[in-house]
Amino acid sequence: MFISVLELFKIGIGPSSSHTMGPMRAARGFAKQVADWLGAHAADGPCRIQCILKGSLAWTGKGHATDRAITLGLHGLAPEDAASRELEPLAEALARDLPLPLDTSDEVRFSPDTDLVFDRGEPLPQHPNGMIFRLLDRHGTPRLEHICFSIGGGFLADLEEIGRLDAPLRSTGAVSETCPYGFATAAEMLALAQQHALSIAEMKRINESSCRAVDDLDRRLDAIWQAMQQCVHNGLTAEGELPGGLGIRRRAASLHHQLLEHPQQTSPNDWLCAYAMAVNEENAAGHLVVTAPTNGAAGVVPAVLHHFVEHEGGSATQVRDFLLTAAAIGGLIKHNSSISGAEVGCQGEVGAASAMAAAGLCAARGGSPAQVEQAAEMALEHHLGMTCDPVAGLVQVPCIERNGFGAIKAYAAASLARMETGEHFMPLDACIEAMRRTGEEMSHKYKETSLGGLAVSITEC
Ligand code: SF4
Repeated sequence: MFISVLELFKIGIGPSSSHTMGPMRAARGFAKQVADWLGAHAADGPCRIQCILKGSLAWTGKGHATDRAITLGLHGLAPEDAASRELEPLAEALARDLPLPLDTSDEVRFSPDTDLVFDRGEPLPQHPNGMIFRLLDRHGTPRLEHICFSIGGGFLADLEEIGRLDAPLRSTGAVSETCPYGFATAAEMLALAQQHALSIAEMKRINESSCRAVDDLDRRLDAIWQAMQQCVHNGLTAEGELPGGLGIRRRAASLHHQLLEHPQQTSPNDWLCAYAMAVNEENAAGHLVVTAPTNGAAGVVPAVLHHFVEHEGGSATQVRDFLLTAAAIGGLIKHNSSISGAEVGCQGEVGAASAMAAAGLCAARGGSPAQVEQAAEMALEHHLGMTCDPVAGLVQVPCIERNGFGAIKAYAAASLARMETGEHFMPLDACIEAMRRTGEEMSHKYKETSLGGLAVSITEC
């Protein structure tokens, strides 16, 4: 199996990888398709693009800024570019039915007010996060159509690719034959590590090096870590109310301030919460964030890593090993289950992030592959069954605090695993399988639709 560390950790913007980053990438891709199609066909006049959002995207797309993401994507913006732009005025300007910047003789326009449909009817049968893009000619006749799915973490699948998902979450055909140390399960990962006397980070590094030079890999890993640190810093220095109308105030900066004033009265839990909440408040504000493995769960890995560097003196080499190990575990979870709240609930987002962070921390502290596997298993196990029920479709309640608790569990799991031998009762593979089955049996109300749980329990007064 090979899912690159650079695919799991992607620099972009909040608030959601599946509802913001994925749709932005999909829209950008469709705009390119349209340009190619118009280069080869006559459209006989001005055209419009229509986008129909299905399933969870229709239910919570408004709160997750999917409309803004689609507009920006159709105008050619990629999530990684958007992170450095002032987005609100840009999105407002582009929403005024301007022609798309396509190099074509026929003009193409898109207005989120009239061309974007939040279709809350039956979702597409293949996946809960469906998008239908159409190019309509001046008579309103569809001339080009593309159906795709946002499958979590900013990843996309088209109709052909989604067909390769089995029942429906386990991906097949992802085992790379070009990878020197390809593993599709944790058991295979541990066997390879033992056979070759390599750490998980070393195997992952060699696998990654089959696609890019080692220098380039290190440069990109360092850029990911810098972006994560920037997110922590931005969140710890920002005050005020988060957008969306819930009236949720930022708390990370004030919490951090109190910790700095009375450090002798603090525990790692307090710092981890402050760091994780800082990142997720930034995510909720639609600012710079790194998928880890998703936006909703973007605070867990940076919080644990930031704590490791700031409070334990973690080195640059250890940071890279942390990220590589975390990515190995995230890849296993994505390959054998899911990292999408719309597919399996929050166990796949914050649960996966916690397992990744636990594994990364355990490895960075010198844990053996068996201890790393145990750390990941413990962290994931205690998130099993966790639903996704964001209030008002916003990635704020319970998401922001939940990242703090995911970081605390990761820290505890890594510490506990380091004090044991790595021998344990429940294998990580079995835990990932339990997560997959639990997700399949979970009601759709708890899969990023805001139709159940906390989302419907708030009393209006
Ligand atoms: S509840 Fe969890 S899975 Fe759902 S949006 Fe929030 S962080 Fe993501």
